[in-house]
Amino acid sequence: MKKSNLPTKVCVACARPFVWRKKWERDWDRVLYCSDACRRGVHPLARRNTKTR
Ligand SMILES: [Zn+2]
Repeated sequence: MKKSNLPTKVCVACARPFVWRKKWERDWDRVLYCSDACRRGVHPLARRNTKTR
């Protein structure tokens, strides 16, 4: 039996679903972004927050 029922979330930046990753196993509850690019707001699809100018 394969465990393919990995949890998924929707990235708050690009609004795309992403799948649980090993590196997030301890931080999954806190993960909001699918990638570092989204976290930093440099993703093309990401809406830039007006935090940084
Ligand atoms: Zn994203």
